[in-house]
Amino acid sequence: MDFEYHYSEELEEFRKEVRAFIEEYAYKEPVVPPDPVKLNPEMFVRGKELSRKMGERGWYAPAYPKEYGGGGLDLGHCVVLAEEFGWIRREHRWPGSTEVSAIHTGGIMAHGTEEQKRRFLPKLLLGDWHGAQCFTEPEAGSDEAAMKSTAVRNGDVYIINGDKVFVGGEPVGGPRPDYLYWAAVTDPKAPRHQNLSAFFIPADLPGITYIPLNLVGGGGGQRWHIICEDVRCPADCMIGEENKGWLVTQATLHLEHGGGGHLVTGDRTEHRIIDYCKKTLRNGKPISSDPMVRDLLVQLYIEAEVGRLWGVRNFAMAQGQIPRIRYTGTQTSLHRKRFSPVKGKILLDILGPHCLIDDPELQILFGEVELDVRLGEVTHVGGTPEVQQIMMSRAMGLGRGATRAATGQQ
Ligand SMILES: Cc1cc2nc3c(=O)[nH]c(=O)nc-3n(C[C@H](O)[C@H](O)[C@H](O)COP(=O)(O)OP(=O)(O)OC[C@H]3O[C@@H](n4cnc5c(N)ncnc54)[C@H](O)[C@@H]3O)c2cc1C
Repeated sequence: MDFEYHYSEELEEFRKEVRAFIEEYAYKEPVVPPDPVKLNPEMFVRGKELSRKMGERGWYAPAYPKEYGGGGLDLGHCVVLAEEFGWIRREHRWPGSTEVSAIHTGGIMAHGTEEQKRRFLPKLLLGDWHGAQCFTEPEAGSDEAAMKSTAVRNGDVYIINGDKVFVGGEPVGGPRPDYLYWAAVTDPKAPRHQNLSAFFIPADLPGITYIPLNLVGGGGGQRWHIICEDVRCPADCMIGEENKGWLVTQATLHLEHGGGGHLVTGDRTEHRIIDYCKKTLRNGKPISSDPMVRDLLVQLYIEAEVGRLWGVRNFAMAQGQIPRIRYTGTQTSLHRKRFSPVKGKILLDILGPHCLIDDPELQILFGEVELDVRLGEVTHVGGTPEVQQIMMSRAMGLGRGATRAATGQQ
């Protein structure tokens, strides 16, 4: 019996169209570094142009409604796009982002007014804008609600003051973001979680200072310490209602944690590592012939598959195909964050110090292995594993909420 999924003729035709587009615009050789921080500014600009070209076809945000600049395409077309662009990214021949980031659209989709959706979404969904998600502050990371940034209404503007850290995502030396997705306190007297608002601040307003941060791993690009001093942000750039910003940031973080799901993950280095170990000889034998190596590769494969399948499940839930479970995004994120240091260690155990070399002549798999080992312990992006664990237990009805319910505490 054939259990393979077969695409319709129409979808196979669509695949040809996508592939022709890709071949027309992709670099002919693998030149795009796996670490986005190392993308040179010229490639970054080219990548943005390509995102726009995808946007013109409705391919940059294929599942989003057409009236906001999305493609309005069905699931089959989205899968084909995800597969084809996943493949070209793995070949290191595509310099730009191949899909809109739900981190930036999620808050607007869930809480923006109709006017804001029509004003902001086309710029995002057509690949015109890229921005920085600015939630973390020097004294407010895991405890995001402790943020001290302020936004004070003054006529038709809010005066923004405060600083954010670890935010951004451009290549080193590349252009600045187009907007800052910034959360700030708008009612200092209100209780935590009811005192914040969220803004899309135009990133070139006077009073904004950008200080680059030199991190072990940028997690997607150059990270900044950004300071706002009396920045006059138009009041109609506030997303959602005043003092409801916590809900806006939570909608965003749910998607960042993986709640929206993934059809095809673009970073499946595990398969390529397994292939590398089969084909590369050590002492005259394939690396994979060592039983210890084989055990580690199986572990690598299983964990990667769990992540992939949860991504597909979360996608089906987000599309309303199967009932939702509350903890899915957190579960996926927690799994990824626990697996990431283990993966780094497995690579070191199998390949030794060779993993750490990023010299173009000597690196393994175009630098993907060095990047995975280096980023293994960088699990802070989007919330640490400890915090994900707390969120997971709460979503399962354990932890703080459950104690309150059991003891009758308020
Ligand atoms: C590469 C990178 C990219 C990032 N990108 C962005 C971005 O684009 N936008 C943005 O807003 N932020 C971004 N961040 C910030 C990230 O969200 C924070 O680093 C993260 O939330 C943790 O905050 P913190 O660094 O202040 O650590 P802290 O909150 O100070 O935590 C320090 C340690 O204490 C532990 N801890 C804290 N509270 C508890 C608790 N209640 N129980 C048990 N353990 C606890 C943490 O798990 C951690 O190990 C990025 C960070 C990195 C490293």
